[in-house]
Amino acid sequence: MTLEKQDKQYVLQTYARDYTNFVKGKGSTLYDDKGKNYIDFASGIGVNSVGHGNEVLSSAICNQAKNIIHISNLQVIEPQAKLAQKIVEISGYDMGLFFANSGAEANEGAIKIARKYGETKFDSKRYKVITLEHSFHGRTITTVKATGQESFHTPNFSPYPDGFSYEKSIADIYNAIDDETVAVLIELVQGEGGVQPFEKDEIQKLAIHLKKEGILLIVDEVQTGVYRTGEFLASNLYEIEPDIITLAKGLGGGVPIGAVMTKHKDILSAGDHGSTFGGNYLSTSAGLAVLDILKPMYDIGIIDETLIYFASKLSDISKRYTNLFEKEVGLGLMRGLRAKNAEIQGDIIKSCMKEGLIVLKAGRNTVRFLPSITITKDEIDEGFKRFEKVLNNC
Ligand SMILES: *Cc1c(COP(=O)(O)O)cnc(C)c1O
Repeated sequence: MTLEKQDKQYVLQTYARDYTNFVKGKGSTLYDDKGKNYIDFASGIGVNSVGHGNEVLSSAICNQAKNIIHISNLQVIEPQAKLAQKIVEISGYDMGLFFANSGAEANEGAIKIARKYGETKFDSKRYKVITLEHSFHGRTITTVKATGQESFHTPNFSPYPDGFSYEKSIADIYNAIDDETVAVLIELVQGEGGVQPFEKDEIQKLAIHLKKEGILLIVDEVQTGVYRTGEFLASNLYEIEPDIITLAKGLGGGVPIGAVMTKHKDILSAGDHGSTFGGNYLSTSAGLAVLDILKPMYDIGIIDETLIYFASKLSDISKRYTNLFEKEVGLGLMRGLRAKNAEIQGDIIKSCMKEGLIVLKAGRNTVRFLPSITITKDEIDEGFKRFEKVLNNC
């Protein structure tokens, strides 16, 4: 039986899957079972923050796995406490963390914190959460409902939980707030929605307004967190102090982990929230290793250099291929080229695979780039060389 057949027969077909069989990875290069190599500009949708086959990460995982992988959260877990402290210190925010296993779960935690805040901190109950159209917050029933794209709210999965409403823009949020609103949940750079960053001053203005109104600002940093924007958190880049921040994708370097962090450390008490796997020895040891790799790179300016180099290459291409692209979008190491139409986008992504380059789609017509934070200049050069070859044949 071929791998494709096996997958189609036994795995639920929830993805429009490509059947290239990757068997080995080193840095930002992947190898398939025929020995062909691919430059990875996708990093597992922003997950492989330190690339593939990283020695520091893999030995941290191996060493931890040989000892304790998991005990219950009824006992204290040393790497969990260490990782929480490290994230708080690097972020610069006085917050406490809860560890989950994914982005959606981190956002579920954020919504639970907001709901309890709304139940306990006001004279009359507040429970509504405002999010944005084109947002993406996850695939559970609640986070699908929090996601502001109508196409996600199919009747197939209804009824959905109440209490979510969507606004077109940041400016529209002000008027949408009523006396039942408890929180605003946003991404600072919309990832799935088309790699769309918001203006710093409009976000700062919103943060000030929400603080004045006593309404929580929740920032979904599942994709933007862990140096993706060039700073540890996009919230650091935007110089705001959210009430709640969620993390996941890049934090474990590929090991499933999510986290919700908040300055309202007293809202959840024993029994309010939990997770069997969340924050176990394996995932938090991986998280510690990822930060041990990336923090020193940030401190000496390597991450900055990488993102400037990547951006200049992309910008050059965007200027030279105006027949295919409308404009360049994104920031840091989350970038996109807005294609003239969805067909061009689809063709480019498919042809890139043939040429040995992995890129992603976002929104309706954006070709998306989410390379690992540790990608080298040589890998960037080679990736764009292959990309241009594809564009020249379009
Ligand atoms: C990927 C993503 C999620 C969902 O994360 P999962 O780990 O797939 O549950 C939520 N929010 C944002 C902004 C994301 O990019």
